[in-house]
Amino acid sequence: MDGFKVIEGGKSHNESHNEDGDLQKIPRFLSPGGDLLVQEDAATLLTNGDTAGSTPIATPGVGAITDNVSAATAREPSAIEPHQRRWAWAQIDREAISQNLKTLRKHIGPDSMILTVVKADGYGHGAVEVAKVAMRSGSKYLGVASVCEGIELRRAGIDAPIIILAEPPIDSIAEILHYDLVPALYTSEFALALGERADAAGCVAPYHLKIDSGMNRIGVHYSDAGDFLRSLAFHRGLELQGCFTHFATADTMDTLGLKMQQERFEQALETIRYMGMDPGIVHAANSAAAIRYKHTRYDMVRLGISVYGLHPSKLTKDLIKLRPAMSVRARVNSIKPVPLGEGVSYGFNYRSPGGVLIATIPIGYGDGLSRVLSDRIDILVDGYAYPQVGTICMDMCMFEVSQRQDISNIRQAQLSAARPSVEFGSEAIIIGRSGEQEISMDDIAEKMGTISYDLACMFGLRLERVYKN
Ligand SMILES: *Cc1c(COP(=O)(O)O)cnc(C)c1O
Repeated sequence: MDGFKVIEGGKSHNESHNEDGDLQKIPRFLSPGGDLLVQEDAATLLTNGDTAGSTPIATPGVGAITDNVSAATAREPSAIEPHQRRWAWAQIDREAISQNLKTLRKHIGPDSMILTVVKADGYGHGAVEVAKVAMRSGSKYLGVASVCEGIELRRAGIDAPIIILAEPPIDSIAEILHYDLVPALYTSEFALALGERADAAGCVAPYHLKIDSGMNRIGVHYSDAGDFLRSLAFHRGLELQGCFTHFATADTMDTLGLKMQQERFEQALETIRYMGMDPGIVHAANSAAAIRYKHTRYDMVRLGISVYGLHPSKLTKDLIKLRPAMSVRARVNSIKPVPLGEGVSYGFNYRSPGGVLIATIPIGYGDGLSRVLSDRIDILVDGYAYPQVGTICMDMCMFEVSQRQDISNIRQAQLSAARPSVEFGSEAIIIGRSGEQEISMDDIAEKMGTISYDLACMFGLRLERVYKN
């Protein structure tokens, strides 16, 4: 025990779990000086020392702390699935991701490498898991938006080449080199700082030059790319590994804009080559361009949304078959009749028409189910669609299960009679397939006036993820 003392109380392990399901209580551990130790310290104590289940130890001098908490509660309970912890979760189908990459590979052909974009926590799907699946499904590179995202992958043991798709802050250069991340760059300040730091460490830092071909976001202006590279060519700490640009309109009906960007990009490449430099890996296409335009694929394509089984726009839907990897699910945690005229949820914006059960599911706008969707979406249970009703709250929302049967419509009456009942614990689908019914990420994104990218990211922020296959 190394002189640490543990305050113990009378509760058994089981009691403390069963009482109210509250696993949040942090047992108090005291250092010899009477300081509270953080939970990790406590866990270490328990694994190293043999205190669990031992007889309570009287602790002189700390009698003021009277909480009686069993030391046993500090032990990690055996692992449960996230959806057992909270009845709302995002289910990620790894098989779909793998399948999509194979389909994309077939569509794109063997000549272009695939970089899988896992920024924003893998578009909400979990960057680490997606990266693992992608690398064993034919992807050669990973793309992230920030140094933090790259470090997360490295710490998870992923050793694939990782490109940071925008120039990071100069302050992060030590970490970029330490974690073997490859930055995009477009300012000489960053380039020189990177080269100097690498040289001082006795290594050469690879980088990709970002060329602005007309999106006017980031990058060296296409007409300056040659001179920019020539100004760095002397540097023994730098190695140009690739050149890339990004299309602004590949997912739209526009073709002129894309053509213009591509011509400018090629003009920059031509200048670079003319100056005797090797542009390295040339890449330009996002999902939309890679799927729609063969001539944009170059040495590598950067695939994000399509890997997740979502389409960059309606224009790719007929060109390739993709399988959505994410479904959003919840379980009914309350269901009860609400009499005619009674209000439901904040503002009473919905009032019961009578003859209905109101079911509650623990998912709300804090999970990405935006409040603007209130009263505008359906919830699927066992292949049937039920209208969501009342204002969507931060952590929950309600839907209506009608108990009425429209006897004027025999077909409907039969359907209603055949309808399985919604009950406490029923699984509800917010995004995904249930029987013959399907609600897609696009359906909901469209109602919000946004795109699937945005929505998928939002569902990734708080919901627990459950991986299947
Ligand atoms: C996000 C991103 C991509 C991926 O775009 P998708 O439309 O999701 O395929 C590709 N390139 C860059 C530079 C990006 O930032």
